[in-house]
Amino acid sequence: MFRKKNLRLLNLIFIISIDIKMKISGFIKNSLIDYPGKLSCVIFTQGCNMACKFCHNWELIPKCHPMGDTIDENIVFDYLIKAKGFVDALVITGGEPSIQSDLIPFIRKVKKIGLCVKLDTNGTNPKFLRLLLQQKLIDSVAMDIKTVPELSAYKVLVGSQFTENQMMNVKKSIAILKNSSIKVEFRTTLIRECHSKSEIRKMCKALKGDHKYTLQTFSPTKVLDPCFENYSGYSQLEIEEIIEYNKDLHCNMSWIG
Ligand code: SF4
Repeated sequence: MFRKKNLRLLNLIFIISIDIKMKISGFIKNSLIDYPGKLSCVIFTQGCNMACKFCHNWELIPKCHPMGDTIDENIVFDYLIKAKGFVDALVITGGEPSIQSDLIPFIRKVKKIGLCVKLDTNGTNPKFLRLLLQQKLIDSVAMDIKTVPELSAYKVLVGSQFTENQMMNVKKSIAILKNSSIKVEFRTTLIRECHSKSEIRKMCKALKGDHKYTLQTFSPTKVLDPCFENYSGYSQLEIEEIIEYNKDLHCNMSWIG
């Protein structure tokens, strides 16, 4: 009886330990674009707490797509250890990495190898962000700003399930990152039908500071909400004009194609 109980307990521990492992859906071994100035590896974590209508990574959102196989984190670590010396950093993107219960021990292991860590986030988990900063576990953060940081505007792009509480968290994350000393980038995917020039100016006002603010144009392919397939991005020239028009706000803006 005692043995059976112990066995059950062991099974439970095993299941729990499997469950809290990082869920990694994708792994890029070398990238020159995901961590500016560094050669990086990139992992894509599985799962997201948002469902942005323009999302291109919706295979990573459980409520929109059956989850595929995950990559064993040991495969990632084996490569990171071998690659140390020519790879400088690991970029953790998603999905939304901050929903992974095992993210902190995972990042600690990456830091022990001696690599820089960049986190991509939608900003809904400011407590977690603060903890990572306090413990000096991240060297760079890129936070997506979907639109003007107001609930009604976010709901248009993220859906009616987006809550007041999530909106407050996004605002807190903006404030935390604006005051942090690490490399911070805010970034917005501009959709012509969703981001008017006056809304873009409002975003600039909310974000102005020393950190980078990167604009990228929307591409209507492989999006979560089929309606968005009829929407379009701004042209390169228009984005340059937008940057010029908002220059007085000192947002350190740039764009990527
Ligand atoms: S765009 Fe990012 S935050 Fe939005 S649903 Fe996709 S992965 Fe999640």
